[in-house]
Amino acid sequence: MRLNAPSRLLPAISIALAWTFSATADEHESDVQRLVAALLGPTPMVDDLRELTDEIGGRPTGSEANLRSVDWALEKFRQAGIEAKSETFEMPALWLGESAAANVFGEGVRFAPRAAAMPFSTGTSEEGLTAPLVDGGGGGEEDFERLGESAKGAFVLIETDELVDLAGLFAEYGANAQIEPRAFAAGVAGVVYQGSRSRNVLHRHNAALGPENRHPVLAMERDGARRALRLLREGTELTMEMRVSVRSGGPYESFNVIGEIRGNESPEEIVVVGAHLDSWGLGTGALDNGCNVVMLIDVARQMKRLGIVPRRTVRFALWNGEEQGLTGSWRYVQSHAEELDRHVMAASFDIGSGRITGFFTGGRPELAAATDRVLEPVAGLGPFTQADVPIVGTDNYDFMMEGIGNLVANQESANYGPNYHARSDTFDKVDQKQVRLNAAIAAAVTLGFAEMDVDWDRQTRVEIQELIDATDLADQMKSFRVWETWESGERGRRD
Ligand SMILES: [Zn+2]
Repeated sequence: MRLNAPSRLLPAISIALAWTFSATADEHESDVQRLVAALLGPTPMVDDLRELTDEIGGRPTGSEANLRSVDWALEKFRQAGIEAKSETFEMPALWLGESAAANVFGEGVRFAPRAAAMPFSTGTSEEGLTAPLVDGGGGGEEDFERLGESAKGAFVLIETDELVDLAGLFAEYGANAQIEPRAFAAGVAGVVYQGSRSRNVLHRHNAALGPENRHPVLAMERDGARRALRLLREGTELTMEMRVSVRSGGPYESFNVIGEIRGNESPEEIVVVGAHLDSWGLGTGALDNGCNVVMLIDVARQMKRLGIVPRRTVRFALWNGEEQGLTGSWRYVQSHAEELDRHVMAASFDIGSGRITGFFTGGRPELAAATDRVLEPVAGLGPFTQADVPIVGTDNYDFMMEGIGNLVANQESANYGPNYHARSDTFDKVDQKQVRLNAAIAAAVTLGFAEMDVDWDRQTRVEIQELIDATDLADQMKSFRVWETWESGERGRRD
C-alpha cells in the first residue's frame, strides 16, 4: 500500500535562515521544501519496505537473504538513476542459527519451552546436551556465590526484566556483558536467559563475547522460564536438555551498499547518511532497520528526481554486519582512510519508526548547534532537542572514534523495545506515516549538512580520549565489547 500524506503534514517552512550556504538561503530553503513535499507524497517507500521484509525477509550477515538484500539495494539505487556500488569487506566469523529446542524435566514435570540460540552460541550434537538447570537469579556476583559448586556443569537460568524501551535495551547489553563472563568463570555448561520480550516472543542478539564465545547461550520463552524458576524456587530439581544447530565458520566477505550524489561545488567533501541493511533472522528486520533503509533510499531517489545537487557529496550508506560488531561501518572508515579528513558528518538512523525527536550529537556542542540549524526548515515536525552525548551501539561508532562529526537520530521508543531483535519485528509494526515524516527530517539533515558552512574539524586521538574521559563512553564501549580495540589502537583514530 502506498501512503498519501495529507497536506496538513507539510511542515511550516517560513523562517529566513541566518546561516550560510553556497546556494542562497532562499534556494536552500526551497530545495528542502521541495524535497520534503516529495517525500510526504506518494513514493514507492512502503512498497520497498514490504519487498525487503516480506519477500527477502530476515537477513543476518552471512545469509543468502542478506546477499539478496545487497543486490536489491543496488538495484533500487540504479532504478533511481543514482550511482551505487557494493564495497566488499571481511567479516571475522560466520554464524547463522538454524534451530534450537529445549526440554525441561524433573520429578513429575516435563515441558518444552521454545528457545532461540543467541548469535555465536555454540551448537550441540544431535543427541543434545543435558545438564541440571539451576536458578541463576539476576546473574549477579551474589547469585553465583549462592550457587557455589552447583553452577559447575549446569545450565544457569537468568531472570530478566521485560524490555520495553531504549533504556531497558542498553541495560540489557550492559548486564549481559557482565553475566556471561561471570557464569563461564563459575564453570557453567551454558547460559539460558529468560526471554525479555513479552508474550513468549523469542529474540536473538549477540552472546556477550561475540565470535569468541565458546558455550551454548539461549533465550527461553518468557513464561516457560518463569515456570522453570517457580519450580526451582519451590524446591523441584530440574534438568534441561538442549539441542542447538548452528552454521558457523571463519572469515567471509560481506558488502556495504553505497549510493552517491556527487556535490557540485566541493565534491571532495562528504556527508554520509546511513542505516544498516542486515538484521537478525527471527523476525524480518522491519523496525531494525528496514524502515530506515527504505527511508534513506527514498531521500536519495527524490533528490535525484528533483535534480537537487548540493555543494558536498552525499553518500547514502546501507551498512552490513552492523548487528555483528558494527563491522561494515568499521571497514568503511578503514578503506576510506584517505578521505576521512574530508568527511564533514556521518548520520545514522537506527531506532525504528518512532518520531525523530532530535539527534545524539556526541558530546560536541558545535554539532548540536549546527543540528539545531539544519532542522529549522522542518521545525513544524518538531519540537527537536539535541542530546549532546556520545552513544555506542550503531554505525556512528567508528566515525566517532575517528573524530568525525557524527549524529544518531534520537527517536521515540514507540514499539521498538518490545520488538527489538525479536520474531515480532515485521512489516506490520512499522508506523508508515511516521517513517515519511522522519524521511522529511532526514532530508533536512542531509541537505543541511551538505550545504552549510561548518566550523569543526576532525578530532585528534587526544580530543577523542578527552571525550571518553568526560563522559560515560568507556562504560558503553565495554558493554558493546569495543573498548579493547580502542585501547590497542586497532579501532579508532591513531596519533
Ligand atoms: Zn539496528
